[in-house]
Amino acid sequence: MAKLRTQVGIIGAGPAGLTLAHLLHLQGIESIVLERHSREYVETRVRAGVLEQGTVDILCNSGVGERLKREGLQHQGVELRFDGKGHRIDFQELVGKSITVYAQQEVVKDLIAARVGYNAPIYFEAEALRVDDYDAEPKIHYQHNGEAHEIHCDFIAGCDGFHGICRLAIPAGQIQFHERHYPFAWLGILAHVPPASHELIYNYHERGFALLSMRSPEISRLYLQCASDENIENWSDDRIWAELGTRMATREGFALKDGPIFQKGITPMRSFVAEPMQFGKLFLLGDAAHIVPPTGAKGLNLAVADVRVLTRGLVEFYQRADRAALQRYTERCLRRVWKCQRFSWWMTSMLHRFPDEDSFSHQLHLAELDYVTSSRAASATLAENYVGLPFDTPGLF
Ligand SMILES: Cc1cc2nc3c(=O)[nH]c(=O)nc-3n(C[C@H](O)[C@H](O)[C@H](O)COP(=O)(O)OP(=O)(O)OC[C@H]3O[C@@H](n4cnc5c(N)ncnc54)[C@H](O)[C@@H]3O)c2cc1C
Repeated sequence: MAKLRTQVGIIGAGPAGLTLAHLLHLQGIESIVLERHSREYVETRVRAGVLEQGTVDILCNSGVGERLKREGLQHQGVELRFDGKGHRIDFQELVGKSITVYAQQEVVKDLIAARVGYNAPIYFEAEALRVDDYDAEPKIHYQHNGEAHEIHCDFIAGCDGFHGICRLAIPAGQIQFHERHYPFAWLGILAHVPPASHELIYNYHERGFALLSMRSPEISRLYLQCASDENIENWSDDRIWAELGTRMATREGFALKDGPIFQKGITPMRSFVAEPMQFGKLFLLGDAAHIVPPTGAKGLNLAVADVRVLTRGLVEFYQRADRAALQRYTERCLRRVWKCQRFSWWMTSMLHRFPDEDSFSHQLHLAELDYVTSSRAASATLAENYVGLPFDTPGLF
C-alpha cells in the first residue's frame, strides 16, 4: 500500500475540487486531487453553463481564463416571456454587470490542463473509499489501479458532489440538513442548432416552464419542465421539439429552430443545505454541501464561492498560523448559500406550474412576473442576484 503525504487532500475533480487545487497551487500550498471517474468522463460531463461575473474574474485573475475570454459568450441581459410577450431584463443598464455562458466541462478542461501543465498530482479513476481521523491527523483511503492507498494530510476538502462520501462521514447529530423537493424536474437537451435568441429566454407557460439557453453560437441548450418521475424514454426528439415549440413560441414573430439532439437527460429539482460545512479538519465545498434548483444558475458559482472562502482560510493558516478564518468557514459560506437558495427558490416558484395550481395561483404568477418586469426596482433585484451578489469578504483573486 502506498502512503502519500500532502497539505490538502482534495476528493473530487469537479469545479470545486479543481478550482481549489489551482488557487492553492498559486499560493504555494500542496494538494493531491482524487477523482473516481476518468479524465475523459469529467471533461465531457454536461452540466451548468452560466458563470457569474465574480466566477469569471476568479478564473481569469488566476490565469485559467484565456479560452473563457475568447470563447465565452458575454450576455448583458435575459428575457422573461409570459402571456404572449417578452420582457428584457437589462443587467448592464440595471446593475452594470453581465454573465458569461461557458460550459462547465470547458471550465473543467481548462483547470485540468493547468494542473497537468504544472505537473501537480491529480489521479483519475481513483476512488476515495473512506476518510478518517479528520479531527486530528486526517487520512483518505482510496483505490487506484485495483490497489489500496492512503493519503495523510493536514486538511481534507470534500469536493465530491452530492453523492460523495465526505458529508456522510460527519457523525449524525453533528450535522443537520435543510431540504426541499419540488414536484417537477427539468428535461434538458443539447442540439446542433444555432440558438434562436442570443440571450437566455425564461418562459412561463400554462403547460409548464421552458428555458432557451445555449453553449456556443452553434449549440442550443433547452429545457422543459416535466414530471419529477418522468421517463426520458417517453420523449422522442419530435415530441421534445413540438413541446418546446408550443411553450416557447408565445411571442409573435418568434420561431424556434430545431436540429439534431445529441444529448438529453432529466435533472431533479431540489434545494439542500448541510450545516455546518466543516467538521474538525474536514471541509465540504460545492454540491457536497448544498444543492440549488438550476433555475437561478447558481450551482457552479456557489462551488467557486466556497473555494474562495476556504482558500483564504488556508492561506491565513499556512502563512500566519491564524485559524480564525478557517473556523468561520461555515458562517461565511452559508451567508451566500442562503441568499442564493432564496433566489433560486424564488425563480423556481415564479416560473413553474405546480401540480395543484388553481386559477388563483396562476394569476398570482402572472402578477408577479408583470411586477418584476415593469418595476425598475424589482428588475434590478433580479439582475443583481442573477449576475452574482458581491462577495462580502475580501478574496485573493
Ligand atoms: C445532472 C446535473 C445537471 C446540472 N445542470 C445544471 C445546469 O443546467 N445549470 C446549473 O447552474 N447547474 C447545474 N447543475 C449544478 C452544477 O453542475 C453543480 O453545482 C456543480 O457541478 C458543482 O460542482 P462540484 O465540484 O461541487 O460537484 P461535482 O461537479 O458533482 O463534482 C464532484 C466530483 O467528485 C467526484 N467524486 C464523487 N465521489 C468521489 C469519490 N468517492 N472519490 C473520488 N471522486 C469522487 C465526482 O465524480 C465528481 O467529478 C447540474 C448538476 C447535475 C448533477
